[in-house]
Parts: sequence; C-alpha cells; structure tokens
Amino acid sequence: MPESPPCDVKPLIALFGGTFDPIHYGHLNTVQSLAAMVGLDNVILMPNNVPPHRAQPEASAGQRLHMVELALAGMPSGMFSLDDRELRRQTPSWTFDTFTDLRSEWGPCQPLAFIIGLDSLLTLPTWHRGTELLALCHLLVCARPGYATHMAEPEWQSWLETHVTHDIGQLHRQPAGCIYLASTPLLPISASQIRDRRHQGLACDEMLPPAVLRYIDAQGLYR
Ligand code: ATP
Repeated sequence: MPESPPCDVKPLIALFGGTFDPIHYGHLNTVQSLAAMVGLDNVILMPNNVPPHRAQPEASAGQRLHMVELALAGMPSGMFSLDDRELRRQTPSWTFDTFTDLRSEWGPCQPLAFIIGLDSLLTLPTWHRGTELLALCHLLVCARPGYATHMAEPEWQSWLETHVTHDIGQLHRQPAGCIYLASTPLLPISASQIRDRRHQGLACDEMLPPAVLRYIDAQGLYR
C-alpha cells in the first residue's frame, strides 16, 4: 500500500477569538506573553458574532472591530493581524464551524491553534461541538486570575488530562489535538469590569490602549 507523503513542517498559525467589548490589555499583553512562550511570530485576532440567545455586546460589531483595529495599530508591527470572517458571516459564531473552514483552507498538515483564557477552557465542553475542536486545532490556554485548572465534570477532566502536552515542539509538529496550559502572567482585567467602571464614571486608563479609550469616549460607549 503506498504511504501518504509526510507533511512539510509549517509555522503554527494561532487565532485568538473574543467578543472584545472592548479589547483590553488582559487580551493583548497575555497573548503577547503566550506568543513568546510558544514561539509564535503572529497571532490572528478574530472578533466573534454573539449568538442571539447570549447577552449581546454593548458595542456594535463595527465598533468592536474598529476597537480591535485601533489596538493592533499600537502593537509591535507584525505581531498581530485580524480576521473578521465571523463578523462578516452575519450568523452566530460557532468556533467549530470556523475551524472547519480554516482547516479546509489550510489543508490537513498545517498546525493550527485556538487561543483561549482558562475561564473559556472550563466551559468549552458545553460549546457547540466543543471537545471535537481538538480534531481541527490545538488549544493554547492562557492563565486567568481567579480560575484553577479543574473541570467541573470528571469526564471533562479526563478529556483535559488526555490531551494536555508540556512539549511545545509537539504544537509545531502536529496539526491539531493538544492542549497547552501556559503559565502566562496573571492580568486582572476583564471587559465587563471596564464596562462597569465606565458605567460608574470611573477611570480605566491602565486597562486598555489610549486610542481605544479615546474612541470609546468619542462614541459615547459604556456610559
Ligand atoms: P467579559 O468580561 O465581557 O466576559 P472578557 O474580558 O472575558 O469579556 P472576551 O472578549 O470575552 O473578554 O475574551 C476573549 C478571550 O480572552 C477569552 O478566551 C477569555 O478567556 C480571554 N481573556 C480575556 N481577558 C483575559 C485576561 N485578563 N487574561 C487571560 N485571558 C483573558
């Protein structure tokens, strides 16, 4: 039987999805540290479309996208790029569907990764085809203050333990299938905290890039 040709080694492509309502330093600085740890030259930010049954963002899709663009303009050149496919789709963002598309675009050999915070990993088995995502990509998980690496259900915990790797090389050699729990610096910043502080008229200067804050003021967001 003929053997299939071996895959060429290709640089790992990593995407970071989020509502980004608004984007903040908890996103940007944490992912920058992760990129240095894992050896990523670039991270693709992918703002999502929130399904109608979930709490809707305060900012519109266009405003969230623009805030991501403003944040990226202030980051080291080439470090981040943007993929707005989920916003253009006009239907709910199922991460599984997005990675199905990405896998068919890049082919079976391309190492792909989805970056998430630890809070998101803890709920991932409840997402649409959440655990099946590992057939399509790796999961790179950033630490988040207040969350411990312990899944609520024993079968989720054993799913996690089966797939965890400590070998960064495996993330680059294999196209998908590993969970990497990164000890990124703990940054106690969240978008909901920023929105709450704005609602109360409190300053958020240290929490997000100045250009994003100026845009929030100009648009009268989170009043
Ligand atoms: P909200 O407070 O409205 O829930 P958020 O700050 O968690 O928003 P999202 O856009 O929902 O921001 O998050 C996108 C991704 O970034 C998620 O996977 C989340 O876990 C991760 N993330 C957000 N803030 C941090 C942080 N401070 N440290 C590590 N990961 C984070």
